[in-house]
Amino acid sequence: MMRIPQLVFLLMMNRIDGVSRIEIPTPFPVGNVNCYLIEGSPLTLIDTGPKTSKGLEAMQRELHALSYDLSEIEQILLTHNHMDHIGLVAQFVRERVRIDGSPPEVWIHQRDAEALLNYERYMELYLASVVKLIGASGVPKNEALKFARGRTEFFKSMGGSVPAVRCFEDKASFKTGIGKLSVVWVPGHSPGSTCFVCDKQRVIFSGDHVLGDISSNPSISFDRSEGIGMVTYLASLNRISPRGSYVALPGHREPILDLASRIEVLRADYDDKLRRAAGLLTSSPLTVYEISRMIYGDYDMNSLILAVAESYDLVRILESRNQAKSTSHNGVIHVVKH
Ligand SMILES: [Zn+2]
Repeated sequence: MMRIPQLVFLLMMNRIDGVSRIEIPTPFPVGNVNCYLIEGSPLTLIDTGPKTSKGLEAMQRELHALSYDLSEIEQILLTHNHMDHIGLVAQFVRERVRIDGSPPEVWIHQRDAEALLNYERYMELYLASVVKLIGASGVPKNEALKFARGRTEFFKSMGGSVPAVRCFEDKASFKTGIGKLSVVWVPGHSPGSTCFVCDKQRVIFSGDHVLGDISSNPSISFDRSEGIGMVTYLASLNRISPRGSYVALPGHREPILDLASRIEVLRADYDDKLRRAAGLLTSSPLTVYEISRMIYGDYDMNSLILAVAESYDLVRILESRNQAKSTSHNGVIHVVKH
């Protein structure tokens, strides 16, 4: 049975002939992930959804509704390495090898490739960094235990490794049925986050770099070699703002019809969070966890790491501006007004 797309998407699709959105459920608070099928040669899929039985069923059902099969996808372009976007890649590779004898071309930015080549190891490193951050942030023991319970198995079940991926860098381009897609590297949400831009159709597949009604967390990457994630992310917004009049097709939720305004709103939101964080600080020390509760409120366990990681970035930015001072006591960061 074919799902009736929402009106706004129907309107959009009239303008972008040859592109279909495939919505895949995820077990995360963000809800469905958007994958995009680009018809023509080579048959191209942008992102795959997570490896869950519901995700695979939805992908097969939606592809069948469009008269395609998993094994027919020739080119997979990945916006970034998070499990809700790459989890099913191995299934596509297996199916095409089984039917066709050769795998589809799987492309990802070179900075994000490790998660696909060695998924389990990558998850172990990621979770180790999360545990470290949770400890340093002063998350209460009972909440930390609640967060950790079953988390490793849960995350590991959501994806898998593939034997070979092809890596692209900034400014690479791909042939697709709607014209050339150009790579715009936008590190922040992950080190290799990428927008695929089609200048001919004035469309940007924006992954999780810019989302319509939720903020894209810029702080959860454990690769901190780029510096403060939020600072890197805000700089990356500049990389797509020249295409502010394009339509953005994001990794979650609805298309963004006014990208320029959305970028302005995102910038203002982060300025506001910084102001609020600065306003909380006094001479009595706060932990990063306490700051996260004051800024993000009564979030649940699934959002713990997002809230704490973002709060830690806020603290580091305030420190770099001499508005905050942090010290470590028994491994826990304590923050006061500078
Ligand atoms: Zn996502």
